[in-house]
Amino acid sequence: MDILHERLSKFTLPDEVRKQGLYPYFREIEGKQGTEVEMDGHHVIMLGSNAYTGLTGDERVIEAGVEAMRRYGSGCAGSRFLNGTLDLHVELEKELAKFLGKDETLCFSTGFTVNSGVIPALLGPHDYVICDDRDHASIVDGRRLSMAKQLRYKHNDMADLERKLQKCEANSVKLIIVDGVFSMEGDLCDLPKIIELKKKYGATVMVDEAHGIGVFGRQGRGVCDHFGLTDEVDLIMGTFSKSLASIGGFIAADSTIIDYLRHTARTYIFSASNTPAATASALEALRILQREPERLEALWEVTNYALKRFREEGFEIGDTESPIIPLYVRDLEKTFAATAMAFEAGVFINPVVPPACHPTDTLVRIALMANHTHEQVDRAVAALVGVFRQLEIIK
Ligand code: PMP
Repeated sequence: MDILHERLSKFTLPDEVRKQGLYPYFREIEGKQGTEVEMDGHHVIMLGSNAYTGLTGDERVIEAGVEAMRRYGSGCAGSRFLNGTLDLHVELEKELAKFLGKDETLCFSTGFTVNSGVIPALLGPHDYVICDDRDHASIVDGRRLSMAKQLRYKHNDMADLERKLQKCEANSVKLIIVDGVFSMEGDLCDLPKIIELKKKYGATVMVDEAHGIGVFGRQGRGVCDHFGLTDEVDLIMGTFSKSLASIGGFIAADSTIIDYLRHTARTYIFSASNTPAATASALEALRILQREPERLEALWEVTNYALKRFREEGFEIGDTESPIIPLYVRDLEKTFAATAMAFEAGVFINPVVPPACHPTDTLVRIALMANHTHEQVDRAVAALVGVFRQLEIIK
């Protein structure tokens, strides 16, 4: 056995969990991603999707994708930089920029490649990148890929952020990057304070709106809009893989930043452009989001109901303020057991274990969609109360 194989043979956690019959990953869905799905032969309530607006199965979104595929074909066979730009990509970029209140946007093939491409493109070895320690993995990888000096502050701890800013030379580039809504815990970044510190220390701010778009702000414009701070935030990142019912990602900023990124972001230039179908579906979802404010209202109505129900039943749900509801377990084995037992009881939830969280913070993550009903929430809460009591996670 070579040295690499020898090392990999010690990676036994998946097998251990499989042997216990608790393996929760790669379950196969046999249809559209709705509020209830057929999965691995079970009928389950879907509480593990990021489709907050509930648009992934919407006929108009599907039809827009089908039509674009017929008109433009199945792929673009090249990068945006060269032969891969369609008028459709540009149309989506223009509508997004207008929606978000920024000069321009650039669309990438996934949200992950936005963060992993934009951060290294902007920063050099004399610069600083400053992140919240719960930022998404794609920000972590973007930070690592950059040549910049790397600083991390304790989650949402603004005094710690200020200490980190004080470490940087006054005339250096300092890019602060935060999740608008933290993807596992569902809490928001303290954007007003971050902007105050940005001004005090001459920093630049980038907000990841992956879980903010379609959820917060006017017509779902995101957390920056929710706080009325869009103009103060320099770069807004987002994805089409959640509320916009497709796949792809974007960065929005002023024309100076965007034109620089257009010619320097390696994940934009050296990767093929997004498919016509995905682009058209995202554009249609964006239009529906703006036309149908009732979706956002429904999402918040069912979110508030679920938050109230989980609190009433004694679940520990942390500081969430969003449709992402963490149910803390704080035990690795029980987290896998709760996920498997919930599945057997007809509820699909996602286990969150290291490296996605600290070992003492393991949880199961619930995410709501605009088209979930109170009846589905009640059914899920009843099933989860049973599971959590059996495992002695709650009383
Ligand atoms: N940022 C955050 C906060 C996310 O949660 C995700 C997806 N889980 C991404 C970026 C990456 O987006 P995508 O799925 O489009 O690659």
